Amino acid sequence: MVDECKPARNSLEADVVTLASDASEEAQQQYLQSHADKTIQTILLLVAMEAEATPMVEALGLKADSPPVIPPPAPCHSFSGRHAGANVHVVCFGKCKATGVDNVGTVPAALTTYLAIQAFKPDIVISTGTAGGFRSRGAAIADVFVSTGMVNHDRRIPIPGFDKYGVGAFDAIPTPHLQKALSLKAGVVTSGNSLDYTAEDMARMVQHEAAVKEMEAAAVAWSADLFGCPVFCIKSVTDIVDGERPAQEEFLENLHKAAGALQAVVPQVIEFIAGKRYSEL
Ligand code: SAH
Repeated sequence: MVDECKPARNSLEADVVTLASDASEEAQQQYLQSHADKTIQTILLLVAMEAEATPMVEALGLKADSPPVIPPPAPCHSFSGRHAGANVHVVCFGKCKATGVDNVGTVPAALTTYLAIQAFKPDIVISTGTAGGFRSRGAAIADVFVSTGMVNHDRRIPIPGFDKYGVGAFDAIPTPHLQKALSLKAGVVTSGNSLDYTAEDMARMVQHEAAVKEMEAAAVAWSADLFGCPVFCIKSVTDIVDGERPAQEEFLENLHKAAGALQAVVPQVIEFIAGKRYSEL
């Protein structure tokens, strides 16, 4: 169970995340020095938007938990079932009370992850959904990336100690075999609370060699780290951050392609990791 895991190695002290080139068996050995090598029987997927969660829930044949396992006033919704011999739970962040839109961003991400880990006691947490990709790091529309690390790009606190806290970098559990088996690209996932970015955000994203940019992963990692629970991300690319802005119809087409890629890859990821030890990922 999660509570038996030791805290992750770097926690909030790191300001440099593990990079794609480190996602090797050596990185895996190092990671396992601070995590007991458990067999994966329970998998928790965190998804911000309902439109991202629904196709995943259908592809995995999960059912809405009724009565809710995570009760109100928490706005999230959970779906559970068995897939590839594992217990699988998808939790989406629910709707904003005031506006009715999906609760995207780091605040609902941290809250939902914390409550979902308490409720489901997973062996591993996966933050999944759409993201912007960096062409300079090899990203193209509908590529699916697996994370090597998670970091924040919009938390600037230039006070000793708080500066590293602001970056809030976490290692992803190394997944060299998964990456190879499913031909996934790998890299750093960077999170911030805006769909766009400032020049300062961009400088930080470049500094951390970000491969994809989204709005939740670093917060999911923060909560998972409180429980010492291993975490990684599966993110599909809807737009290119360091490229030209697409026209509206192209944007929708890209979104459709990226959603399709995610729907196809997430069940394969679960089939690959279910029943394996952390050391086999
Ligand atoms: N492409 C999405 C955008 C929705 S709002 C859509 O139209 O459905 C932002 C959500 O998408 C967040 O959950 C965030 O994690 C993700 N996202 C996708 N591309 C992003 C980008 N370029 N920058 C930040 N977040 C992005």
